Amino acid sequence: MKMMGIKKQITTTLLSIFVLCVILNLCFIFTNAEKNKTIHIPVRWCAIIGSPAVTSPHFPNPYGKIDNTTESILDTLLQMINDNIYNPIGISFYSLHHNLSKPNDRIPIIQDPNTGVGKVGNQSISNQMEGGEMIESCDNAWKDTLHTENLPGIVVINIRLFVNANGNSIDTFGEGCCLDPRISFVIVSDNQFTSANTGNGSGWHIDKVDKVLGHEMGHALGLSDTSNNPNGLMYNNLKRDDGTPSGIELDEQQIAKIRMNALLINGAINIS
Ligand SMILES: [Zn+2]
Repeated sequence: MKMMGIKKQITTTLLSIFVLCVILNLCFIFTNAEKNKTIHIPVRWCAIIGSPAVTSPHFPNPYGKIDNTTESILDTLLQMINDNIYNPIGISFYSLHHNLSKPNDRIPIIQDPNTGVGKVGNQSISNQMEGGEMIESCDNAWKDTLHTENLPGIVVINIRLFVNANGNSIDTFGEGCCLDPRISFVIVSDNQFTSANTGNGSGWHIDKVDKVLGHEMGHALGLSDTSNNPNGLMYNNLKRDDGTPSGIELDEQQIAKIRMNALLINGAINIS
């Protein structure tokens, strides 16, 4: 009887261990599946009148094709940051205009709210209001198009160039905000000024992976600038670019923060 009791005890213990292992294993599989899912984030593009993507949409892309519409140019920018920076960490941006039904499947083209400085399409950093006015116009255009006040995704504005009070281009090629991703926005210079062999705006650099947009999207997902890693995506001095896909590193903490914040964005979907 005693032997039977010990046997029973051993069997129960083994059974408990087995059940625990199954549960732990399931938990492990579940967490891993969650980790491996891709978060799809809508982007509300608007292009400002005067930016090359609007005035002369003809641009050779890094995939060997020529983009000749505003939409295809801006789609390629998202593809570049998806392929090089964001898909490897389970984030995928897509342009919201793909959700529209034809013939209205266009990205809103909006007026330059301040044409007093330099060329049309520029944003003057001396006018603090201009960026906000562009975002407001863009949001209004999307509200009209989608018939909703509850706009999904991140607003991204394609401008001509950032300029100073004299209308001359400056070493700023993008702006991105915020630590709270629910109110995030991005403004970027047209990639005709930052991509290989076409930079006639400032002679700044070659940006084959559209690191500028990638960096600003990092801000839109709640990351701050860093100063410790020159190869980091959020390094505060992007002028070191040499045309190779370098300088796009994200550490574990940044990746975790991006993925957590991404889920706060209206319309973001977590699917495999
Ligand atoms: Zn920055």
